Amino acid sequence: MNGYGGNILRVNLTTGKITREPTPVDLARDFIGGRGFGAYFLYTEVPAHADPLGPENKLIISSGPISGLLVPGAGKCDFTTKSPLTGGYASSSLGGMLTAELKYAGVDSIILEGISPHPVYLFIENEKVELRDASAYWGQGCITVEKALKTQLGEEFQVAVIGPGGENGVSYACINHDYGREAGRGGVGTVMGAKKLKAIAIRGTHSIPVADLDAYRQSGMALFKACKESDGLKPWQTYGTTIVTSWCDEVGALPTRNFSAGSFEKGASLYGPVMREQIVITDKGCFGCPSPCGKYSRMKRYGTYVEGPEYETIGMLGSNVGISDIQDVAQANLLCDDLGIDTISTGGAIGWAMECFEKGILTLEDTGGLELRFGNVDATLKLIGMIARREGLGAILSQGVKKASQVIGKGSEKFAIHVKGMEQSAYATHNATAMLLAYMTSDVGAHHNRSWAITYDLQVGRDQVVPEKVARIIWLQNFRPMFDVLGACRLQWVELSIDRELYVPVLAAITGIHRSWQDLEKVGARIWNLTRMFWIREIEGFGRAWDLPSPRFYEEPPVTGVTKGQITRFEDVQRLLDMYYEQRGWDANGIPTPETLANLGLKSIID
Ligand code: SF4
Repeated sequence: MNGYGGNILRVNLTTGKITREPTPVDLARDFIGGRGFGAYFLYTEVPAHADPLGPENKLIISSGPISGLLVPGAGKCDFTTKSPLTGGYASSSLGGMLTAELKYAGVDSIILEGISPHPVYLFIENEKVELRDASAYWGQGCITVEKALKTQLGEEFQVAVIGPGGENGVSYACINHDYGREAGRGGVGTVMGAKKLKAIAIRGTHSIPVADLDAYRQSGMALFKACKESDGLKPWQTYGTTIVTSWCDEVGALPTRNFSAGSFEKGASLYGPVMREQIVITDKGCFGCPSPCGKYSRMKRYGTYVEGPEYETIGMLGSNVGISDIQDVAQANLLCDDLGIDTISTGGAIGWAMECFEKGILTLEDTGGLELRFGNVDATLKLIGMIARREGLGAILSQGVKKASQVIGKGSEKFAIHVKGMEQSAYATHNATAMLLAYMTSDVGAHHNRSWAITYDLQVGRDQVVPEKVARIIWLQNFRPMFDVLGACRLQWVELSIDRELYVPVLAAITGIHRSWQDLEKVGARIWNLTRMFWIREIEGFGRAWDLPSPRFYEEPPVTGVTKGQITRFEDVQRLLDMYYEQRGWDANGIPTPETLANLGLKSIID
């Protein structure tokens, strides 16, 4: 098994039983690793209609064949589970150093099942694997606990940890690592909390076998060289993801006041260069990264430090809640990180609550006395704590905007910005049909990283509703998430314009198996269809209605900003879905046909 740790580690938290199984060769052949392994184990091992917070749900942590090797950005790890936020498939990617240690400990996937009777952490040092008491850490913040475990076990241990948000059942709790990297979306931290698993600490010292050492060295170095010579390196390293903040504001894609507009009149104070000058003190990267996009910042006003904020957090906890000072956004980021809740969903929930307050749907009595107006920093910071503790209005918001709007009602469902129950990440899509379709059809809910198409919209005409746009989305959905399968970062391809063909010889040298991108895209389509079938299996009546976006994007043109008056017509939303389903080989309700499943080799798994 060249390129693999060679084992699947199964940990039953109910019984404390821990076993190792060899990684199946046919699993590596058909699903390769990472997100592919997660999707396979989720579909085949979690019984239909399992409670996401019950013992039958599993949390699957997987590396890929590139993880931990000398390839740019080879530090990506996938967390898959049944989502407590959406009730469907959740898969969240984590950068940092964890996945390398996992591989060095000889592990490709950890499958966590059951529920521990008391708080524990999982200790892994090569073959030594133990569940250890974590009662003393329960209730403490992510940063404190990571520091404490590293002090106790040694700096070479890599730690993933949940905060009070995950312990208390916030539906969008995240898993933190390396003091500021998160597996953020879909409530993977909520599932970890329900299992009473506070943390995972891993150290490995084994080497990873590769098929052809010389070819691996040469092809890996060719990728590093391409990164080093890229014109995109310097700006990317200087600003990281905040490189897009000003662009999004200028083109009307920056979420503003609960996505009611795409341009923020005070947006300039959130732009990348302002942040770099005012708060950034150093750069920070994941394992093996030649282009570190992480920014470590100091908030003088608060006397605090944080990794971030990156673009998504600026969009969701800045302009989306009307906050314009980068120090305040960074402080909100820090609170979310330490409490262990996703900044994107948190910003979406608070933005929605602010709109409710300004419309009189929520009153001071409902908010516990908070003047929940857009731009109120103090109220935002307080509400973050209330969400993590599930206190007062925070308890309602902790369920996500879909369920919160069902509780509050009074028309607030119309401006709950989500798809499939997941809060939309930080691109306003009033008039950007490719990005809108990307959100509508993303396999986890309204998340951008499956197919980031906002720049493509601008290139080809943002209101165009044509088959080429749909084909582009499907291509990206099959191709981009393959980086999460391989265990590598996609951003060298996206931001440094690295030729994706350079990855083909690396993968062949590591695994000994030649796979073209066409082969890899077929695996991507297999995973995409398998996870679609997971949604269909888990949610009664699942189909086309679940792929619709928030009405805000087809009923309410912005009244301010550069997209003022612009909207996607509902009939075009439906046309996008018609074309998408046809090109995917799905029926008119969005269900994969038997022929499609057979062509992708999924019949035996589904049946
Ligand atoms: Fe990590 Fe950013 Fe480098 Fe990707 S580009 S590996 S996310 S530091």
